[in-house]
Amino acid sequence: MAAKKTVTSATKPAKKTAAAPSFQKSKELFLRAAEVIPGAIYGHQSPAITVPGSFPYYAAHGEGAYFWDVDGNKYVDYLCAYGPMVSGYGNRVVDDAAVAEYRKGNCLNLPSPLMVNLAERLTGLIPWADWAVFAKNGTDVTTWCTLVAREHTGRKKIVAAKGEYHGAAPWCTPGHGGIVEEDRANMLYFTWNKLETLKALFDTHKGEIAGVIMTPFHHPSFADSELPAPGFWQGVRKLCDENGAVLILDDVRCGFRLDMHGSQAYFGFEPDLACYCKAIANGYPLSAGAGRNSMKAAAANVFLTGSYWTSTASMAAALANLDHLEKIDGVKTMNELGDLLMKGLVERGKAFGYDQVATGPGALPFVRFGCENNFMRQQVFCAEMIQRGQFLHPHHNWFLSAAHTKADIQATLDAAEEVFPLVKKHFGD
Ligand code: PMP
Repeated sequence: MAAKKTVTSATKPAKKTAAAPSFQKSKELFLRAAEVIPGAIYGHQSPAITVPGSFPYYAAHGEGAYFWDVDGNKYVDYLCAYGPMVSGYGNRVVDDAAVAEYRKGNCLNLPSPLMVNLAERLTGLIPWADWAVFAKNGTDVTTWCTLVAREHTGRKKIVAAKGEYHGAAPWCTPGHGGIVEEDRANMLYFTWNKLETLKALFDTHKGEIAGVIMTPFHHPSFADSELPAPGFWQGVRKLCDENGAVLILDDVRCGFRLDMHGSQAYFGFEPDLACYCKAIANGYPLSAGAGRNSMKAAAANVFLTGSYWTSTASMAAALANLDHLEKIDGVKTMNELGDLLMKGLVERGKAFGYDQVATGPGALPFVRFGCENNFMRQQVFCAEMIQRGQFLHPHHNWFLSAAHTKADIQATLDAAEEVFPLVKKHFGD
């Protein structure tokens, strides 16, 4: 089918200039890494390793909504470091607050007043929360919350939705090396948006379930995102209450992107415990657990510490970042721009005969080719977008930041206008 262009652009298309960007330095670093680092790049390997040669391997620096790789190529960043960048790389408000704390001796023997200030700030911000604790990574607090649920109920089992990611610990990361069956012996799984599957678990395991841990909406990799069906969250809450189980909201990925008061406010329910990380401190290492008074005694009994637990720079960064996001209404910006991006990609896809599927809220959007479920066109599309300075992940939800602008979205859509016909040509659609 001939590609018919119906979309006009306000700005000039981001034409791919003569030479494709070089990833030479990235590749050289990767080879050096392979000698001294197991697997060269571990953890989040994608898309560099899942689509080899098409994406840079190493980043050099970032500014605002952009980052540069080690070969000097610049990208509009729609991955935002997998979420932590929310107010822009090198944000002066956040960095100045953090740097001042570094100069005062970031990590001391005792917690600083900033820990108290931040706990007060979070409990002021999140309406249902009465207390907060702090750690470094999302996994620290998702794991800790499951222990609090057990301590509170005296029960063992934890329920999660199939396909949800809660961190890199044996209880929640199936399918990786070194994990044995016993690590997940107390885990049970139900299907997102299917309340009857959660009810069935409660019926089968009467009096055994300590807690249910869930993300605010379902955002698995290699799949569309799924928002909660009307009444779903309220149904989960009710089942937890009827069965004496603790409801844990894993707001690590969505927190402070959907609503400054926590993602439960966006979807209209209240958990008993919640976990925050990524967007809390604009890239400084910090996570938080929050809870109700009813969970406080159990929380005080579950050990939580770490080498850097007193680190003040991250707490200063979080205080500055939360103030900044509130002041500029970053949530509104991210959601509006993400909606524009989704709408624009769907429209431009349509102009070339593609039915793009756009899912998720604007701040965490995902758009893929509706005509395939193997992500092949998606990989080619994203690899071509990278050549035009647009960093879109092929199979993980994207992230907007408050530093993105309408001009960035326009540049991305202009690039997409060039790329859709290339995908068509490549696949002969
Ligand atoms: N929960 C969710 C929903 C996440 O997205 C992540 C990180 N991708 C985690 C937990 C784990 O956080 P971390 O990688 O900081 O341990």
